[in-house]
Amino acid sequence: MTGPRIELRPCLPCQLCGGELLLAVRVPMQVDWTGGQSIASYRTVTLCPRCHRSDAATQGVLAFFAVHERITHETVHGAGAVIREWIERVTTNPPTYTDDDLEEDIRRWEDGDI
Ligand SMILES: [Zn+2]
Repeated sequence: MTGPRIELRPCLPCQLCGGELLLAVRVPMQVDWTGGQSIASYRTVTLCPRCHRSDAATQGVLAFFAVHERITHETVHGAGAVIREWIERVTTNPPTYTDDDLEEDIRRWEDGDI
């Protein structure tokens, strides 16, 4: 299994508001199937500056980008530190996808929101 794959300013829009994302990371994870089988899979975790503003895991990254519009040679170390911290939090607590999430996504898709 490979490590998380990071995308800065990803081209996919925020799933919640449709706005521009700051970051997206593909987090490797194991999915347990009924019958005891387990397969390697991925979850994509996104960071939206509007929708994830009150999420404790995003505070370092959002504070960095509030001060620095983009990553430069001078700020790359600071950016790396806050992005690493966010990734550590999302990889140790990977998001779960519940039946309610699925129903909500189907409802939004039927409404033409996604
Ligand atoms: Zn959003």
